[in-house]
Amino acid sequence: MDLLHAQLGRVQQHLSFVAVDPIDWKFYVQVFSWTITIFESYLLIRQYPLYSKTKPPEALANHFTDDVLEKSQKYGKDKAKYAFFSGIYKQVLDSSILHFGFYAWTWNAGGTIIAKFGYGPEYEILQSIAFVFTLLLLSSLPTLPLSLYSTFVLEERHGFNKTTLPLFVTDLLKQWALGFVFGAPFLAAFLYIFQWAGDRFVPWLMAFMISFQLIMVVIYPLVIQPFFNKLSPLPEGELRHRIEALAGKLRFPLKHLYEIDGSKRSSHSNAYFFGLPWSKHIVIFDTLIQQSKPDEVEAVLAHELGHWFFAHPTKMMAISQIHIFTILALFPAFLHAPPVLRSFDFPKEVAAQPPTIVAFLLFQMILTPVEAFTSMCMNAVSRHYEWQADRFACELQDRLQDEKMEDMGERLGRALTALHVKNLSTVWVDWLYSAYHHSHPTLTERLKALEAFQAQRKKKTT
Ligand SMILES: [Zn+2]
Repeated sequence: MDLLHAQLGRVQQHLSFVAVDPIDWKFYVQVFSWTITIFESYLLIRQYPLYSKTKPPEALANHFTDDVLEKSQKYGKDKAKYAFFSGIYKQVLDSSILHFGFYAWTWNAGGTIIAKFGYGPEYEILQSIAFVFTLLLLSSLPTLPLSLYSTFVLEERHGFNKTTLPLFVTDLLKQWALGFVFGAPFLAAFLYIFQWAGDRFVPWLMAFMISFQLIMVVIYPLVIQPFFNKLSPLPEGELRHRIEALAGKLRFPLKHLYEIDGSKRSSHSNAYFFGLPWSKHIVIFDTLIQQSKPDEVEAVLAHELGHWFFAHPTKMMAISQIHIFTILALFPAFLHAPPVLRSFDFPKEVAAQPPTIVAFLLFQMILTPVEAFTSMCMNAVSRHYEWQADRFACELQDRLQDEKMEDMGERLGRALTALHVKNLSTVWVDWLYSAYHHSHPTLTERLKALEAFQAQRKKKTT
């Protein structure tokens, strides 16, 4: 532990200028965030003309009729336009919020709120909770029209929306209520650790965050998800039988097999698994079950179990722990830095003793460019994992010595194509746009890879 603190201390020394130099951080954040928005808009401009193509890529030629392609292209075009304008709108909003010192104003408002209940500024944690929820509430209001438009105009126009206005409103209220019920104690504990551990908070906070994530893995499906969706046991029948047999052969610790009423809100579809290492749950969207045959859904599950087999979720979680650790290791330099708060318009008396939550929030904003780069790298890792899971499904028959699985690759290809057609997903994708945004390879890339795996396999066996 002492070694860790010595190393962390060295990092702080390098960053000690933050606590004294009057750097115009606000200006930097403005420049960074505009750069990212302009870059994302540029990507959309690169992608947009591809929505005017009238022929699908070679690999998809047999699956996309002219009619489906036209629908998919129209949907893509509408989504791209929406992304372009909403991106700029949000940026103008964020930028104005910064420019007019909204964060400092909200911190003060948080103080006024708790004062009404008889608590003074010495109750930093209480003021922080009031601050965070006021900030979230006020800053989410201007983007509400965007999500209304996206759900009731854009998705509706293309036949995907199943949400009604009352459902939309109750969802929103539930999200707020749950966010507060779970978020407030989390925030309180998070800030308490800073107060309690002082500058030695890094390992304690890491331990806390990891425990919190593990608890959420258990609590989310049991406590939170039922507020939004109904999970019912998958009925007896061919599909259940196939999946149980597959899980059994792979020694996947399947505890429950559910069908989820994803179609309540949208007709986009999928399947996933979750749970602790010794007890896993598989969830399949009712929409996937309706649109694909049992042997194709089985292939989708074979892909999902590939993720489990290669421990992809665990690896992703490990990467995200390293990410959190790095952020926390750099943070102390910004925690006791009055010039940072001053540059974001906080009054002298607040800046002199920076509240942890404020320092953390501003620090996050300063990190925006690093975060954008990190998310691009994470997407690359995730695409690699998808490719691995596809390959796993293809090679299942060799692994399990089961001839009935010989055509798993083709079945997966058919299921993916059916999903793609149903979701009217984009068929032509610009490489840079894809590298930045996509956590999955494109369908064309996946089908090509699936074919190549199959060909390789056949070569090996003959
Ligand atoms: Zn996957």
